[in-house]
Amino acid sequence: MQMFEGSHDPHMSTAPSTPRLRSAVTSLAPYVAGRRATSAGIAPLASNESHFPPLPSVLAQVAASAGRINRYPDSAAVELRERIAAHVGVTADEVAVGPGSVGVLQQIIESVCDAGDEVVFAWRSFEAYPLLVTLAGATPVPVPLTADEGHDLPAMVAAITDRTRLVLLCTPNNPTGVTIAGADLDRFLAAVPSDVLVVIDEAYLEYATGERLDAIARYRTHPNVCVLRTFSKAYGLAGLRVGYGIATPAVAAALRRTGVPFGVSSIAQAAAIASLDAADELAGRVAAVAAERDRVTLALRALGYAVPRSQANFVWLRTTDAGREQLLSAFDAADILVRGYAGDGVRVTIADAASNDRVIRVLAGLAQAAA
Ligand SMILES: *Cc1c(COP(=O)(O)O)cnc(C)c1O
Repeated sequence: MQMFEGSHDPHMSTAPSTPRLRSAVTSLAPYVAGRRATSAGIAPLASNESHFPPLPSVLAQVAASAGRINRYPDSAAVELRERIAAHVGVTADEVAVGPGSVGVLQQIIESVCDAGDEVVFAWRSFEAYPLLVTLAGATPVPVPLTADEGHDLPAMVAAITDRTRLVLLCTPNNPTGVTIAGADLDRFLAAVPSDVLVVIDEAYLEYATGERLDAIARYRTHPNVCVLRTFSKAYGLAGLRVGYGIATPAVAAALRRTGVPFGVSSIAQAAAIASLDAADELAGRVAAVAAERDRVTLALRALGYAVPRSQANFVWLRTTDAGREQLLSAFDAADILVRGYAGDGVRVTIADAASNDRVIRVLAGLAQAAA
């Protein structure tokens, strides 16, 4: 029992008095929770969620699977992976699922990055990118967007070094809504070393109405491509946490190995399958949001705002910090929750026409006051 007598152990006497935390964790800026929509009068336009309630067919599957929550979910998510594979046109061994596509992204980083390895991504883009990269002990390499709010792919190629293991592309980009053109992506993929994994995050794919990038076709010609998708946005399952990655069987197997065991709940698996079964029904909702997005874009441009062409379910207002504060307080006063980004601007999620009209009214008021 001598090993437990700490006072006689020279190693124990120098032990710190509090648990040591990794600097990658303690150096992160604390998460600042946004105002929550606590009443029906508040328009929650800060998180790019679907404003539609769940489909009855999906709710029925959720209710049915709720009766079996004493059991663990299928850890391999076989039925869901087969259903996704059929939907995408790949095989189930090219599919990995996770708790949201953020969960899958964490599995990706864990699969390819050792401490100090570099991950290149556009900035501003999805806030989870630098967060997950930093948490993994890897090094974020943000590359500024172009003046027209898109990925600067040549600059991203130039940012690749011997330490680069991963490049994250986001199309349509969150928060700007701008897409990557197919020809630009092809030039980019030709220039990236084939041992660097390129993730194409298509969280908002379904909302794109213009020329749609075929990321799966790029995956077929470039085995270092991984396509990342989610059920959180167009499919309306943000609260259930389920997303997936499409990659070569070897990469997909690594993603499955690095996932938290039983990470996707049985309810989430059942809801995701039911949602794929209801894809046609959901397409009508997505088209309505896309039409509203285009209507809002035109209305805001008519008011003098320089709104880039969004292919997602949100619009982007680039501003100075003073302009951002002004926008945020005007939206707050109107009980509209939006997302502000220090140094960059404000993102507003598109919802039902009445909420979108409220957004237009707030911005019309500001434009009038400034005139
Ligand atoms: C919302 C979003 C996701 C989805 O996250 P989940 O974890 O699937 O909810 C992924 N990527 C981007 C760029 C997003 O904006």
